[in-house]
Parts: sequence; structure tokens; C-alpha cells
Amino acid sequence: MDVKYSVLKRTYDLHRIEYEEAALRALRSGWYILGNEMETFEKQFAEWAGVKHCVALNSGTDALILAFRALGIQKGDEVICPANTYIASVIGVYENGGTPVFVDADDHMEIDADAIEAKITDKTKAILPVHLYGHPSNMDKIKAIAERYNLSIVEDCAQSHGATFNGKLTGTFGDIGCFSFYPTKPLGAFGDAGAIVTNNDEIAEKIRLLRNYGSKKKYYNEINGINSRMDEVQAAVLQIGLKYLEEGNKERQKIANRYLTEIKNPLVQFQVPYAESNHVYHLFPVLVQERDRFQNFLKEHGIGTAVHYPIPPYVAECYKEWGYQWSDFPNAARYARQEISLPIYAGLPDEEVQYVIDVINRY
Ligand SMILES: *Cc1c(COP(=O)(O)O)cnc(C)c1O
Repeated sequence: MDVKYSVLKRTYDLHRIEYEEAALRALRSGWYILGNEMETFEKQFAEWAGVKHCVALNSGTDALILAFRALGIQKGDEVICPANTYIASVIGVYENGGTPVFVDADDHMEIDADAIEAKITDKTKAILPVHLYGHPSNMDKIKAIAERYNLSIVEDCAQSHGATFNGKLTGTFGDIGCFSFYPTKPLGAFGDAGAIVTNNDEIAEKIRLLRNYGSKKKYYNEINGINSRMDEVQAAVLQIGLKYLEEGNKERQKIANRYLTEIKNPLVQFQVPYAESNHVYHLFPVLVQERDRFQNFLKEHGIGTAVHYPIPPYVAECYKEWGYQWSDFPNAARYARQEISLPIYAGLPDEEVQYVIDVINRY
């Protein structure tokens, strides 16, 4: 059997007619940027998140960049970041001249909240929890620390649409929640798209200006902005995606539960979610010591996998100026060397899930 790591076409086909009708509605409207579709999506997404504002943007990376810009992060400012994350989280800080200060991952593969305080200095301005793989960071602890030290929180929710900690939605704990709608994400567009959510009127207004050259009124540029607008076609199809977000999350959770209960191989270690978490399994990461051998074994049996992520940002070539060593964050380093993600997406047939389980149990 051939089991591809991801088949976006299958997720699309689940609601194909509705996506196509929405896309055509946007195309036929004759209005393509900053229009009704975007406004409608912003209203729907804010309502879904239970917050006052959503500002639709061009990508999750832009959401992070503009979030830190709106908070005034600049050269000399420090932002606490997880050592185990995707590079885009760090780009949001770096693009504003800020300095990411890394904290190692805990046994749950999230930022170790108990290790944050030791990294706080008088230059620290914000904490950036990343709800990696669709599993929430320990937001109760992070929120308490932020309050004690008067720090902002920017949440990277690029993988965690719908994930909760103690029943509260990721993206609504901090000052700003940043979302990506990259096609593979729990809520995916058919191209690049992203958004921020916030309850803060001033921040929302500022990001609205920043995404549109810094102007509210055409040719009156109040602040130095960029161009990061969600286009109408993406905003239209995202309204459909949002309708089925929970359905997709539940389907992935069902697959995850099968993996968790039916994979029985001592060489394959699962991520252990926090007891307070509702994990939406954007990814299904497992840890395997001889990862290459495991990956090749699955490949020989026709099963596709992916690694998230082989090189942590703190040792990325582009950031070598910081002089970090792999060994500076032992847990993040171990995850980078041992993590491998199994196929999990809405539309993955049961027989394929069964086959993945059977093959892994034979490894
Ligand atoms: C995908 C992702 C981003 C960036 O989102 P884009 O829409 O691709 O720019 C940021 N952070 C994390 C954790 C991501 O997975």
C-alpha cells in the first residue's frame, strides 16, 4: 500500500463544491483586495475565537512580524522564544531588530515554562509561546510569569487553530494571537494567508494600518507599514474552511487516538500532552532514536513521513552570529534529532491509518 504523508487534494475534496462556489463568488465580484469577503472572514474568525478583533493578513509570518511591530519591539529588546520551534516564529522577532532569547523544551515538547524566569532581564519585553504540533504551551504558567514581570505575550497559533489549555482557546491568552492559514494548517487557505486576533482596540487599529502601507486613508501614510493584505479569494474559501475546522480537528484527533492506542512498539515514543490540553494534532510527532532507519523502513513499505524540524532556529545557518551550539538546549536538540511525523489529515482513509499502525508494529 502507498500512504503519502499528506494529500491536500483529499481534504479539499471533502467540501469541494462549497470551496469552488466561494472562490467563484470572489472572482466574479470584481473586487479583489480589502473587500467584503475579507471583512466577513474577519468577523467570523473573531467570533469563532471569542475576541473583539481579527485582522486578516497575507501570512502567519507577517502576523508575527506585525504583532511585534505593533507592540513596539525594536533593537535591544529581548523576546523569550522556545528553542524547539519553526523558524518563522523567530523571524517575527528578528525582523523588528529584537533579540530572541531561547528557552529549552520540556518533556511535552513545548517551551519549558519553569525555565522562563531565569532568562528574564531588564531588556525582556515579551514572551512568544508557540503551540507546536497543535498542542498548547502551558499558558497558565506563562500568563502568570508575564503578569508578574509586566511582559507582553504574543502567541504563535500557526499550528493550533482550536487547541485549548484549561478550556481556553490558544490565541486568546496573550495580547495578540498570530495565525497562519498556509494550506497544510488546521485551517488552510489555497495559497498564503494569515491573521492576528486581539481584544486590544489600539493594537488592532495599528495592525490594520501596518498591513496597508501604514495608511487608513489612501495616500495619507501615518506610520511606516508594509503590504500584507489577505486577498478576497482566500478570504472567501477560508469562510468555508472555518465552517469545517472543528470537523477536521475531530477527525485528526480520532486518527491520533488510534495511533496512541494501537501503535505498540517500545522503539516509538509518543508526545505526552499536558493534562490541561486539548491537542488538535496539526501534526502527529513521535520520537525514534534511529530516526533514519525508521524513516527508511516506512518508506520501503510505501509510507511517507516528515521531520519537524531537523535544524532548530538557534543553530540555523542564518543566525550563526548568535553563536549557539546544539548542546545549549539538550531537549530541543534531541527532538530535532529524533522527531518524525506520521501521516495525519482530514480525509486520510481508515485503511491507510491501519496500514501505518501495522507497519510500525512490525518495525
Ligand atoms: C507555518 C508556521 C508559521 C508561518 O506561517 P506562514 O503562513 O507560512 O508564514 C509560523 N509559525 C509556525 C509555528 C508555523 O508552523
